[in-house]
Amino acid sequence: QVPNNEASQNDAPATSESDDGKEITPAEKSLLQKIIRKGLIETTKPLEIQRKNPNSPLYSIKSFESLHLKPELLKGVYKMGFNSPSKIQETALPTLLADPPQNMIAQSQSGTGKTAAFVLAMLSRVNPAKPHPQVLCLSPTYELAIQTGEVAARMSQYCPEIKLKYAVRGEDLARGSKIEDHIIIGTPGKVLDWAMKFKFFDLKKISVFVLDEADVMIATQGHQDQCIRIHKQLPPTCQMMFFSATYETEVMEFAEIIVPNPIIIRLLKEEESLDNIKQYYVKCKSIDEKYQAITNIYGVISIGQAIIFCHTRRTANWLATKMTKDGHAVAILSGDQTVSERISILDRFRDGLEKVLITTNVLARGIDVEQVTLVVNFDLPMDQHQRADCETYLHRIGRTGRFGKSGIAINLVDSPVAMQICLDIEKHFKKKIHLLDAEDADEIE
Ligand code: ADP
Repeated sequence: QVPNNEASQNDAPATSESDDGKEITPAEKSLLQKIIRKGLIETTKPLEIQRKNPNSPLYSIKSFESLHLKPELLKGVYKMGFNSPSKIQETALPTLLADPPQNMIAQSQSGTGKTAAFVLAMLSRVNPAKPHPQVLCLSPTYELAIQTGEVAARMSQYCPEIKLKYAVRGEDLARGSKIEDHIIIGTPGKVLDWAMKFKFFDLKKISVFVLDEADVMIATQGHQDQCIRIHKQLPPTCQMMFFSATYETEVMEFAEIIVPNPIIIRLLKEEESLDNIKQYYVKCKSIDEKYQAITNIYGVISIGQAIIFCHTRRTANWLATKMTKDGHAVAILSGDQTVSERISILDRFRDGLEKVLITTNVLARGIDVEQVTLVVNFDLPMDQHQRADCETYLHRIGRTGRFGKSGIAINLVDSPVAMQICLDIEKHFKKKIHLLDAEDADEIE
């Protein structure tokens, strides 16, 4: 059945059904972003470097060989498909691996290679002959800790002597235990308990401290204080590495507390743009015509992946059910799923098992999906007052940098309100949105 009362954009957004009232947390956003992304974000922006101490060495490398890593570690890096260092890695890696150790604050948007950089530094600093934790990495949540641990496990696949332990919920040790693993990756609360309350390991013996996702960390109540309490116990010789996707004053003030005498590197975020994107709109009279338009288009695009945005969860569910019934392999992402359900859905989508992802707005707000060739606005993005939400439009459709592949955007217009939104978007970006006859979707290039 066609869901009533929400098919048309004449209707006010049904807030109870829409995901809009329900924001996802910065930690969830960061996680989903990590999972959906296939590879590096390429950037054209120059790297900015600040040194508090002008005598500290600073250079950049163009190959992983020039880092003189252990051969087994280098083999692991290549096995992951990394041929050459990303822009941030070119400068971060030699600094992180330098002797004597250098402290670093690095800021760049998600997907630019920070995690791979500090994981490589963590692994190469381990002395496997010493049976105690030497490297401590703090992540804001369970899931983010696991993501980092999985990168470490893959990168060290030829170094079985390096042992890693998660300090996260669900992991428990008998009282009196002593941890012998070399690397601990965990959340601040659990790490505090393990180190201070149960004395499972000695913070004084940590030689590398990594604070990942610092901006997400401070957005989580209580985490910042816990990090500072852990940090206070570390030896003064400990190398500090601090990573953040954003650069607000609050984050930098936190960084100042954690990282004495740092080298600071920053990579400015690439602007999103609609260049290289072919934009269309399709006139539809009903939700069924919208559905028909989707299936016509779907028949034409055999290569690449698509994302379809719906205004409400209800429409998204309806569309997913209908497309599935008609034999299409679609995935759906919505606010009523658990984190682990979302992870497995996005894992499958990233691996291409489903070609189409149907979603509501909120979940996709933080995510960019450059590997997607087609974006369909089943409902146009609008604010509470049914006016064009140009920012969301750009975020759904736009790509970053001149490396951004070309893409196609299709807007389904089913009412005068929707038409007005479409026109306003066109005017706002000064980029033509072409009329497309969905019966004749071959027109799409
Ligand atoms: P960030 O921590 O900044 O979000 P990641 O380290 O997670 O970035 O890297 C983003 C994506 O790029 C991951 O899929 C990762 O496997 C991949 N990646 C990282 N470094 C390289 C590299 N040098 N070459 C190719 N891919 C890389």
